[in-house]
Amino acid sequence: MITVSAIPAFADNYIWALHDKRSAVIVDPGDAAPVLAFLRTHHLTLAAILITHHHADHAGGVAGLLADTPVPVWGPAFESIAGVSNPVSEPATITLPALGLNMTVLDVPGHTAGHIAYYSAPWLFCGDTLFACGCGRLFEGTPEQMLHSLQKLAQLPGDTAVYCAHEYTLSNIAFAQNAEPNNEILRRRAIEAAKHRQQGLPTVPSRLDLEWATNPFLRCHEPDIGQAVAVHSGTLPTDAVAVFAALRQWKNHF
Ligand code: ZN
Ligand code: FE
Repeated sequence: MITVSAIPAFADNYIWALHDKRSAVIVDPGDAAPVLAFLRTHHLTLAAILITHHHADHAGGVAGLLADTPVPVWGPAFESIAGVSNPVSEPATITLPALGLNMTVLDVPGHTAGHIAYYSAPWLFCGDTLFACGCGRLFEGTPEQMLHSLQKLAQLPGDTAVYCAHEYTLSNIAFAQNAEPNNEILRRRAIEAAKHRQQGLPTVPSRLDLEWATNPFLRCHEPDIGQAVAVHSGTLPTDAVAVFAALRQWKNHF
């Protein structure tokens, strides 16, 4: 029986631990200390590390974990990250014998040029690409690349549990409501998410079918969103990429 646990780090990061009663695979350890504390508390042995992209809040804890327990480290083939022993890109499958688990690697460039995601039904670990009701900033990729990456993730089954790496949900929802004020499912999501946060609970993982229904960055084809973008930017976007680019730009200054 495999469980996924959140290990909060920094102001709003989630480091994810996939584990049974003995072994843990850690996704995006930006910091070693909270991971080592988690492993100790739950009497778990570190079995492997998975990295989605090179940013320090995702990979900064690798050296500290390896100093404690040398384990294989998977990471994006097209980024250089200290400590990565197994560089991978799509269509690689990785094997995690400690958990009896295989995971599929997906190339999802946009936030960074080599960003990858890890998928094993029903779990998706997507780093800073797809967020709950939002998406990552375009630091190294083009809007076209990011939209394509999001569309790739959106093709997974609706019951996919979306484990993104940050608790950005409330501010993402606030923006989404500006982009799509008449979305009733989004209105209900805002209430639910606020309740969760008031109780100190994570809003992550999200479910992919909820993202389909409420995440504006997966809904660039919706006339209402095209309309809102046109009003905000003062120009009529000509296609989904233009809608996405204008929406991302709008969110950057929201
Ligand atoms: Zn990042
Ligand atoms: Fe991040």
